[in-house]
Parts: sequence; C-alpha cells; structure tokens
Amino acid sequence: MDYAGKLLAGIGTVQDITEQKLYETKLEILANYDSLTGLANRTFLISNLQNSIEHAKRNKTKIALIIFDLDHFKDINNSYGHNLGDELLQHIAKRFTKRLRGSDFISRIGGDEFAVVVETLAQAEDAGRLAQEIIDSLSLEFILSGGASMHVGVSAGIAIYPNDGQNSSDILQNADAALNKSKGSERGTYTYYTDELTKLARVRVECENDLRRAIERDEFEVYYQPQVHIVSGRIIGAEALVRWNHPKKGVVSPLDFIPIAEEFGFISAIGEWVLNETCRQGKVWLDKGHRLILAVNLSAHQIRYQNIPLMVDKALAKSRYPASRLELEITESALMQREEEVVEMLHVLRAKGIRLAIDDFGTGYSSLSYLKRFPIDVLKIDKSFVDDIPYDADDVAIVTAIIAMAHALGFQVLAEGTERAEQIEFLREKGCTMYQGYFKSKPVPAAEFEKLLV
Ligand code: C2E
Ligand code: MG
Ligand code: MG
Repeated sequence: MDYAGKLLAGIGTVQDITEQKLYETKLEILANYDSLTGLANRTFLISNLQNSIEHAKRNKTKIALIIFDLDHFKDINNSYGHNLGDELLQHIAKRFTKRLRGSDFISRIGGDEFAVVVETLAQAEDAGRLAQEIIDSLSLEFILSGGASMHVGVSAGIAIYPNDGQNSSDILQNADAALNKSKGSERGTYTYYTDELTKLARVRVECENDLRRAIERDEFEVYYQPQVHIVSGRIIGAEALVRWNHPKKGVVSPLDFIPIAEEFGFISAIGEWVLNETCRQGKVWLDKGHRLILAVNLSAHQIRYQNIPLMVDKALAKSRYPASRLELEITESALMQREEEVVEMLHVLRAKGIRLAIDDFGTGYSSLSYLKRFPIDVLKIDKSFVDDIPYDADDVAIVTAIIAMAHALGFQVLAEGTERAEQIEFLREKGCTMYQGYFKSKPVPAAEFEKLLV
C-alpha cells in the first residue's frame, strides 16, 4: 500500500480523483508494477510490447526486446540473505532507469530478469550497443547498506520486430531463446536471436569503440597513390588515402571503417587528421624538391558539419604547405546534396588557390548543368567506366564523351583505377590528362611513395 501510494504521488494524478478512482488506480498499479523495484511487471511488459509492435507495424519501424538475466543471482541470495538480495535488485533497477531514454520501456519480469522494449530502432545493431552499455554499467561495483560491495554479471538476449516474430509472444519467446544462447556462451555479453545479427552488431560495436580511440592511439596512416601525367609519364601528384593500422586486425580499408566513422561523426576528426598529415608530408617533400599536388578526400558528412575553409586554413598555416599544391576531392553525390551551400564553399576554397576535383564522376546520377556552376579543376572518371576500356563499346563511348566534355569546360581529366597498358593507350589517344591506378602503383606508405619519385 505504502508503495502504491508513493507511485501515485509520483504519477501526479492524485489531486482531484474520487475514492473509487483512487482505489481503481491502486489496483491497476498493483496489477502492472513490481512492488520491490517499482518497475513495470511482466503483465505490463506484454501489453506494452504488443502496443509497440502495432505502432511499429503502422510506421514501418523496428523495435527490440532485450531481456537481461543476472548471472548467479541465487548465490548472492544464498550467501548474503534475501534482504541484501532485494536491495541489490533495487539498485540494479535504478541503474537501468538511469541508462535508458524516456521512450524505452523497462520492466522486471522475473526474480532476476529484466526486459527493455526499445522503440524506433534505427538499426537492429543499435540494440546490441544499448545492451552492452547496460551490461557494462551493471558490472560496476554496487555498495549496499552495511558497506557490502557486490559485483553482478549480466547476460542479454535480443529479438527484433519484425525480423524475429510478428507478435509479442513470438518476440518474447525468441528473446528468451537468445538469452539462453547468451548464457551458454561467454557471459557478460548479448546475443541476438538471429546469429548474423549477433556477429554484425558485435563487429560494429567493437569497430566503433576501437575507432573512438584510434586517433589518440595514432593508429591512422596516410598512404599515397601516384597520379601520372599521361603524355610525359611523370608522377605529378598523389591521392592521400587513409589506412587504419588496427592493433589486432592489421591494415583496415577505409571502405570498412569510413561508413561507421561517418555514422558516429568521427569522420570529421579523422578527415582533419588526414588533411594535417598530408600537408605536413607535402611540405617535407616540397623541401626535398618534389613538386607534387596532393589530393585529400572530403566526405559528405564533413561538408555538412565541418567548417572546411577554416580547417584548411589551419592545416596550411601549421604546415606552411602552399594552397596551390593542395587538391580537395568531393564525390559527385556529395556535391549534389545542399548544392547552394556547397557552391559557395567551393568558391571560398578556390579563392584561396586550392584545387578542386570531382571524385567518382559518372556515378552520381547528376544533371550535367551543375558542372558550369562549380569551380572545378579536375574530373576523376570513376573506375567502373575505366575497367573495360577499350573493349566495351558503351564504356568507350562514355569515357570518350566525358573527356571531350571536360576539355570543353576547361577541366583536366583523370582516369581512376587504371590497371592495364591498353587502357592508358586509349586514354592517351582521347586526350585524358592523368591516370591513377595499380598500373603505376597501389596506394603505398609515404616512404615507399618517395622511392617512386626518383
Ligand atoms: P576513392 O577516393 O575513389 O579512392 C580510390 C580508391 O580506388 C582507393 O581505394 C584506391 O586504392 C582504389 N584504386 C586505385 N587504383 C586502383 C586500381 O587500379 N584497381 C583497383 N581495384 N582499385 C584501385 P581505397 O584506398 O580503399 O579507398 C576507398 C575509398 O575510401 C576512397 O575512394 C575514398 O572514397 C575513401 N577514402 C579513403 N581515404 C579517405 C579519407 O581520408 N577521407 C575520406 N573522406 N574518404 C577516404
Ligand atoms: Mg578519392
Ligand atoms: Mg574515386
């Protein structure tokens, strides 16, 4: 009774209701809440889950049910007594509540089992991240009355609507099955009902955590891939391509971590690091007499959220690398987003003397009319068009047309991903300015790149 009264006060509807109403509300609370922790109980979870599923069905969203189970809770009860066991459960309930957002529904569904319904999940993997956060927060020490210190281990099982079931009982059952798998394997972790999701989520979360620390730990390195002037055969520049030297996985390709870095906003810091490092290296080479143009990639996320002109000013000032030797690559699809602002930014960069290149040209499904509006120096023809020249008639026609158009508009043209001599022969004939590709060299560390220059 005491407990229900407290809850009622918390809900804040006590003021004007009649005795009868008050009584009904108390009954409802007793029926829907767990009296020890004040969390929702199993009955309430099931009705809430069903509602969430219906909502998700209408809005075509995903939801997750995560069930947490305390490892060896019985032992705690047996060795410390039920009072301390109860107190621990109350502390645990508080930690749950602290970790969760208002829209997450938390319940205690058994002696040592808790369940969370996560609504509007952007990706199934996000549930794993949340589960791990909660597991980690519960693994920190608990101090109980009398000063007893306790640690609890937790395992979690996750089921996703609509992937793992269409109604609340299937989802509940499958989250339970996932929990059992979790307890059977390594403890202190989560498992999805679907094995692929478990793998995917763990790889992602691991990668995200590792990425977070990669900059401080100095794990990034810039590789350089030569850009070759077709007529003279000379290396006139290089594209800076980031690599991640992962302590366990070895060299990780940007294709594997840039999407994750973008999603979590790390790309800005990584991109800035790459720019600074490239300018620093560029100055070293320039001082040795290598007059190169170095190209750095900008991602769509950076263009949206970062002050690129300011970042470039700082990098150039710090390294004393000349603006005229720096090129920035922007993909065609990034250019097409927020066109107005991007045009303005490109003009600002251009005014500083920086060169601009359109990367992956031909893949962005853009109208060509915008080309006139962007102050551009180089079009980089995407590798997919270059691969089958001079044999595929369509690609031959496309590449020929891009080269002619670029010249007409006053741009230089670079063919990406050039691997064979016949391709270069064809490109020379058509008047393509430069190529970049394995034919000359793969992207290589700075020291190796330098050897290509002599
Ligand atoms: P990209 O800018 O189009 O870079 C060219 C990619 O093509 C590089 O892949 C390069 O190694 C590869 N490549 C070049 N020549 C050949 C060839 O002859 N054959 C084949 N098969 N591949 C070739 P990489 O280094 O794996 O980079 C992939 C993408 O990751 C880049 O595509 C770029 O979009 C992105 N990226 C790399 N470094 C950075 C960076 O510092 N910042 C940002 N925002 N993106 C980066
Ligand atoms: Mg590029
Ligand atoms: Mg490219």
